[in-house]
Amino acid sequence: MTTPTRRTVSNTLLPPLFIADHLALDFINSEFGVHPDRIECLNNDAQVFEWLRRAGIPVEVAELPRTGQNGELLRVALALRATSRELLLSRKAGRVGNPSALNNVLARGGTYQEIIWGKAQPLKRLQHRRVATPEDLLVPVAESIAELLADGDFALVRKCESPDCTLWFYDRTKSHHRRWCSMAVCGNRMKVAAFRARHRAQ
Ligand SMILES: [Zn+2]
Repeated sequence: MTTPTRRTVSNTLLPPLFIADHLALDFINSEFGVHPDRIECLNNDAQVFEWLRRAGIPVEVAELPRTGQNGELLRVALALRATSRELLLSRKAGRVGNPSALNNVLARGGTYQEIIWGKAQPLKRLQHRRVATPEDLLVPVAESIAELLADGDFALVRKCESPDCTLWFYDRTKSHHRRWCSMAVCGNRMKVAAFRARHRAQ
């Protein structure tokens, strides 16, 4: 009897994936694969909240009842993702994109600061975001997309080399030779495919 090999898959390899090394690309990657194996990670408001939380964007629980109802957050998240993907493709192809939908979300951005000062705690300065609408929750994501488009090095913004993989990443490796969304998934798959092809050819 053979014992099955135990594969450990890190949290970043379970959907939603956080493999891109850039928040904006992780957001675009929240839908991946091609039909019939397409995986949609954002199917309702709760999943958008969960994505934001896992992405490290602070979402206060008090914001849930106001903004996370009736699929409104999901609607604006999917619209932002669609426009972001389009802008990413335009930027990568050297075409001019239309940023007006992105600019509408960026315009929602509003921050204010607060000083916390008490006997038991040292003086602290906090930064808050105003959240009144679902779009407001997505402002940090929109800002990350704007930063990528304006300041990103697009030689390092690449799609996984596996032909049937739709995932994008920002290559932050020292050698800038990253080829795969993840070695554990596409890297190994493509190596096995290349190995088989070599052996078939012999
Ligand atoms: Zn891949």
